[in-house]
Amino acid sequence: MIYLNGEFMPIEQARVPVLDRGFIFGDGVYEVIPVYSRHPFRLAEHLRRLRSSLDGIRLANPHVDAEWKRLVRRLIELNEPEDQSLYLQVTRGVAKRDHAFPSGVAPTVFMMSNALSTPPPEQVEKGVGAITAADNRWLRCDIKAIALLPNVLLRQLAVDAGCVEAVLLRDGIMTEGAASNIFVVKNGILLAPPKNPLMLPGITYDVVLELAQADGIKHRVRAIPESELRGADEAWLTSSTKEVLAIVRLDGRAVGGGVPGPVFRRMYALYQEYKERVMRAPEA
Ligand code: PMP
Repeated sequence: MIYLNGEFMPIEQARVPVLDRGFIFGDGVYEVIPVYSRHPFRLAEHLRRLRSSLDGIRLANPHVDAEWKRLVRRLIELNEPEDQSLYLQVTRGVAKRDHAFPSGVAPTVFMMSNALSTPPPEQVEKGVGAITAADNRWLRCDIKAIALLPNVLLRQLAVDAGCVEAVLLRDGIMTEGAASNIFVVKNGILLAPPKNPLMLPGITYDVVLELAQADGIKHRVRAIPESELRGADEAWLTSSTKEVLAIVRLDGRAVGGGVPGPVFRRMYALYQEYKERVMRAPEA
């Protein structure tokens, strides 16, 4: 079951007009929210980021948070899996094709649920491969825009190379992955790139830094040059659906010992524990 503009219905029945600005211009924003045991993970934070993406494209938020929360809970109820991945999308609505904003047009609001598929145990235990690529995206990567053509092409480069992610470099500095944030570890210190308009402020990124802080893992938030990425003892990717995953090969060369490192293993355990804790907590 999906949600479209005020109604819940089977996905087969959902229709969006071809003049929707999402279809014509990629003029919209989205969120992906993991649901564990029917509890939406970090919902308030996802809704805050949605607000900020909507502000970024100058589109009024169609719902206050209480309404979003109600819709999200209903969508979870209407779908079977205990663990789900919710996709929310808001576009600037349906209008005659013209770049400038239309007036008096209602946004298109769409939500769907899929079964959540987190990385298989083998990927967690052995780690994954990644490539590097030039970050050729626009300068507002902090907006979670549905226009993802560069990300699509970059991720496909990784897949073509038998890898799971492309780690992006802009002017010699690591920004993020094609669909994830990237951390590195050097000499036991976890390094994270500072939030700025060139990367998406990941919800998982925040969780990882909070867990590092709470667990006393040494960490620094600062720019990571390419040389530091290549010389790292560990590299990780994080995202709502991949959680925390070790990158053990970069451009065909081993990262550190070529196996998931000790700091990764600690963080992975902390992340799983944190999920358990959140699932048992009464809902905000
Ligand atoms: N960066 C990009 C470009 C992404 O698409 C994503 C999400 N898939 C992330 C980072 C990670 O964000 P989050 O932890 O909120 O899923």
